[in-house]
Amino acid sequence: MTSPLIIGNWKLNGTRQKIQESLSILTKEKIIQYKKHIDVAIAPPIVYLSLVNDYLLKNCTYFSNQTKHKYIELCAQNVDINLSGAFTGDISAAMLKDLGVKYVLIGHSERRKYHKENTTYIAKKITTVKKIKLIPILCIGENQQDYDSGSTQLTCAYQIDSVINLTGIQAFKNTIIAYEPIWAIGNGINVCPKHVQSIHEFIRQRIALHDTHIAKQILIQYGGSVNLNNAIQLLEQKDVNGLLIGAASLNMNTFIQIIQTIE
Ligand code: 13P
Repeated sequence: MTSPLIIGNWKLNGTRQKIQESLSILTKEKIIQYKKHIDVAIAPPIVYLSLVNDYLLKNCTYFSNQTKHKYIELCAQNVDINLSGAFTGDISAAMLKDLGVKYVLIGHSERRKYHKENTTYIAKKITTVKKIKLIPILCIGENQQDYDSGSTQLTCAYQIDSVINLTGIQAFKNTIIAYEPIWAIGNGINVCPKHVQSIHEFIRQRIALHDTHIAKQILIQYGGSVNLNNAIQLLEQKDVNGLLIGAASLNMNTFIQIIQTIE
């Protein structure tokens, strides 16, 4: 199986100074170094991507095949469906690539909720991001009502199927899925790792209905109140291949500790 992918999603938080302080903790005493068996990325607000990229390029790199690689990668929190043109305020996948981004979050529940992003729009974003050879991370997950009524699988199936119907299953090749139950986001709730495993298994099976090879390969992250106490238990689940961490990643010491417990 592939290395677990741990991403810190800083959402709409941080200032230039705060981010610089966080980054300096990362490199202090070389706390995090290049590890083959774990992939790490940070998703700062888009306006700070350049700042973070410059820092990572200077302080967090290794050489392989005579090429310089970052061992902490960059993830964007959002992207537009267009690559260029008269779209005031938007940011394209090509621009993100230019800034050193590797992963892009797509369809995060906060974007679905506050920006009314629908499945057609989300599917288009995946297609655009793949065209530029960035890695999309499709975020899916049920709300409290769906969870209470036992409709978690139904919601996840709909969110996956609607993308497949619009783009074809190939859109999931080298794509990542993040299962983020909305009821578990940002509230410190104690999620049950067995529940998470059962939904991840279901997601993999859903992809397998279309392509067993892609289903086997696809990396499925979990997100929602991940912290120092539950990270390992979650990662121990067979179909949990990574973590998408919000609040706990804002404290760089905590984020580092989570990564260190994986080793
Ligand atoms: P929290 O870790 O703050 O619950 O956020 C999860 C999330 O939305 C990550 O994308």
